[in-house]
Amino acid sequence: MSNKTLVIIAVILFATVLSVAAVWKRSAKSNAGPASVAEQPDISSDIMASNDAAMPNAEDVLIAPKNAKVAPELAEGKWINSDPLTLASLRGRVVFVDFWTFGCSNCINTLPTVKNLDAEYRDKGLTIVGVETPELENERVFEYLNNAVKAREIKYPVVTDYDSKTWESFGVNAWPTVVILDKQGRIRYRHVGEGAYDTQEKVIRTLLAEGDTASASSDDVFDGKTIVKTDEEWRKQLTPAAYNVLREEGTERPFTGEYADNHQDGDYYCAACHMKLFSSKTKFESGTGWPSFFQAINKKNVIEKTDSTFGFSRTEVLCARCHSHLGHVFEDGPKPTGLRYCMNSVALKFEKK
Ligand SMILES: [Zn+2]
Repeated sequence: MSNKTLVIIAVILFATVLSVAAVWKRSAKSNAGPASVAEQPDISSDIMASNDAAMPNAEDVLIAPKNAKVAPELAEGKWINSDPLTLASLRGRVVFVDFWTFGCSNCINTLPTVKNLDAEYRDKGLTIVGVETPELENERVFEYLNNAVKAREIKYPVVTDYDSKTWESFGVNAWPTVVILDKQGRIRYRHVGEGAYDTQEKVIRTLLAEGDTASASSDDVFDGKTIVKTDEEWRKQLTPAAYNVLREEGTERPFTGEYADNHQDGDYYCAACHMKLFSSKTKFESGTGWPSFFQAINKKNVIEKTDSTFGFSRTEVLCARCHSHLGHVFEDGPKPTGLRYCMNSVALKFEKK
């Protein structure tokens, strides 16, 4: 064997050892599976149909608003292509967070798609943030990152995450990971690895279309966006008993409802539009046979209106968002408010904590 051949073999051996070491090092950081992930099957062609069944942490599924958690704030880092951004300041926009690093080939493979999404949807309300969480030493050299961003013609904001704070708070464990937030800053979609590009675009389009619809409004505090439906629509949605109370100001017979005797911890929502109305913490035993509370969860969430139907005046309580009738409020309640919100069980929907 010539010296030249020996040198070549030595170089090949050395390179192999290096690349194995690199893979091992990447995997060592990941808690679950390989750190750098190649294409995964797109399992969610019908994601939009399975919306309500979505689990909060399921991957590749559009998470329903009520199951979605608000994303943690981005940790501080050095920004490229933008002044420093916060997720709080991006409320009202759909945010696509791409956890990547410029040395990861799987991440590089996704870049054409991510750049296309930026070009197509930036003006329509999408902000892409590339969070660069490095693994290898050279990936934490800002100059190298800056060069890579320029060389790859990345135009969207990129922020460094050198101490992995954003990575950890988002519960990420592999490159690349995509997390998509809705206009309220809630995590609505997650994907690890390459692929699922069509799904991601569908999710973006769906979330961009949200915002003026009830599903995108928070159920916690009334935001001023009322829901108006025709009687026919309400009839279709509600049971006859619920329709009678909510839409025709009926009253259920005492001791017949589901919640007068409910002692579980949780919240009571409008049975028509899911606005949050009362907490179990303010529920008390009134002995009337109707669920009774001394306070609404938020003054904004209910409308109180004088009602003289029976020749004497009572104060009617309506849902602020859909104006459905819920019951009445009287001034003979317990401390600290002295009020008794006397509600119809059928107008409420209880959700256990
Ligand atoms: Zn309502």
